[in-house]
Amino acid sequence: MIDNENIFCEFVFFLKVRNVSSVEKLKCLTVFKAYINEFMNQPNNEIHISFSEKKTEKPFDIIIIGSGLGGLECGYILSKKGLNVCILEQNPQIGGCLQTFKRGKTTFDTGFHYVGGLEEGQSLHRLFSYFGLLDLPWHKLDEACFDEVILNGKPYRFANGHDRFVETLAAEFPAQRENLKKYASFLKQIGDDLYRSFEKKNEEDFYSTSVFSKSAFDFLNETITDPVLRNVLSGTSLKMELNPHKLPLYIFAQINNSFIQSAWRLDGGGSLIADALAKKIKAMGGTILTKAKVTRLIEENGKIASVEINNDEQISAKHFISNIHPARTLDLITESKQIRKIYRKRIGGLPNTYGMFTANIALKEDVVPYLNRNQYIYQTDDVWSYYRYEPGRKASCALVSYQAPEAGKSYTRNLDILTPMYWEEVEKWQDTYIGKRGEDYKELKRQKAEECIELASRHIPELKNGIQKIYTSTPLTYRDYTATANGSAYGIQKDYSQLMYTILTPRTPIPNLLLTGQNLNLHGILGVSMTSIFTCAEVVGMETLVEELSEP
Ligand SMILES: Cc1cc2nc3c(=O)[nH]c(=O)nc-3n(C[C@H](O)[C@H](O)[C@H](O)COP(=O)(O)OP(=O)(O)OC[C@H]3O[C@@H](n4cnc5c(N)ncnc54)[C@H](O)[C@@H]3O)c2cc1C
Repeated sequence: MIDNENIFCEFVFFLKVRNVSSVEKLKCLTVFKAYINEFMNQPNNEIHISFSEKKTEKPFDIIIIGSGLGGLECGYILSKKGLNVCILEQNPQIGGCLQTFKRGKTTFDTGFHYVGGLEEGQSLHRLFSYFGLLDLPWHKLDEACFDEVILNGKPYRFANGHDRFVETLAAEFPAQRENLKKYASFLKQIGDDLYRSFEKKNEEDFYSTSVFSKSAFDFLNETITDPVLRNVLSGTSLKMELNPHKLPLYIFAQINNSFIQSAWRLDGGGSLIADALAKKIKAMGGTILTKAKVTRLIEENGKIASVEINNDEQISAKHFISNIHPARTLDLITESKQIRKIYRKRIGGLPNTYGMFTANIALKEDVVPYLNRNQYIYQTDDVWSYYRYEPGRKASCALVSYQAPEAGKSYTRNLDILTPMYWEEVEKWQDTYIGKRGEDYKELKRQKAEECIELASRHIPELKNGIQKIYTSTPLTYRDYTATANGSAYGIQKDYSQLMYTILTPRTPIPNLLLTGQNLNLHGILGVSMTSIFTCAEVVGMETLVEELSEP
């Protein structure tokens, strides 16, 4: 309680101080709320503020705009390097796509659902070990079947471990055994080379020599001769936009490989990752302000001098990192000598991937059995056809993700169904805001949820009877909660044939403004974590980071 008493004293102290700035007021209110929440024994995930009078007197070395995974990881790396970091988040809750929401006792994920490669020697292990995230309550999915692809009613199992993965699918496609071996060994090689990318001289060098410049679709066609197996192997890839004309092989291979290594849910939801990082940043002296929307980046003498928060207060720093969409970042720089029109046009014109519709479904007790795997359900002969918007098309593909039950129970209390949703479907309401979009929008969501449930209940017979409540979100929800362009799920669409154009480096034309997050190269937890290293290397140097990442 000592800490909270101190906090309360600080609040009282600030109330007495006249002419406090709005940033200080914001801090006061947030801290006071923490005190009240603590006092009332409420779960509190809004308090991410390292509050001290001294801290605000000391200028910040780095201001990070946005507290998505990328922003928090950069905050962690740079705090660890002794820099004075301030992270500004527009929402009450940190985490961006890692945000969760709670209804009753149930926690729902809004974006993130599972990660791959957490065991020693696997893709994400070194990064998550460095970020101190391996101790979270990770829940391993079934090794014999972590993902199930159901194509027109027929299930196919994905097993962990490259050899087991091959053997499980070869049992269904015996004639493709050798091709499956080639496929799996190629993916493994890409995964094994992951950390070498940090040793390249520069990102341009890395992208131009790697499989970024090859097509995922062509690779599948060249390696696998059975069209059904091609669909099966692509079937777990709602985690990316399967565009046959654009998707780089690197993205397809790196993501799929990490899940073949091992697959994990997080008991308690994605916000645990954000909260763990925030706690460490604060412990190292960093500051995290929520409800602090950056409304302007102010350029002076060719550099960013300060940010404006909530159209009011300005805070300055030496360096700035934007964790938000690059096009939205440029919108914040209204006057600039460094940003040319052509650059703005190029970044603003880059297409984005499709968005997602999510139905978070609360279930009645003891009705729907828990499955320790994900289900990818398709009612189609071509899983590579969803990148195109087709007016009137019903939801015919979906990812079903179950929440692990309490210990000793074998039924789940909630599951999420996700299906691609296109900007065109919600564009009509683009000038509206959350909760105020009107009845026709509610009807669209109800209809979409019904289609998803119809599709899923063919394979989960208990689902319809088990539903207690449904919460839905669309690309508009993501746009309003994360400021992603057009509510895109995975950000800027990468194109293997136009790599230097669609893959961005952290650098911008303004020397002290860097970018980070999923829009730059590889999206997802693995990709964003890699990019955080690339971004921070621009400030502290790659060599020192590689050394720390190599530590056991
Ligand atoms: C539906 C869905 C499901 C997914 N499932 C998975 C999965 O299972 N596994 C996986 O690995 N990946 C998954 N992903 C992808 C992964 O979640 C993202 O790639 C990653 O979390 C993106 O992190 P980020 O740091 O780039 O940005 P974001 O999470 O988008 O964060 C950006 C932050 O910036 C803030 N912000 C925006 N504008 C401002 C402003 N002006 N001022 C202050 N703050 C601002 C936003 O509020 C937000 O908090 C999923 C994504 C979606 C959408």
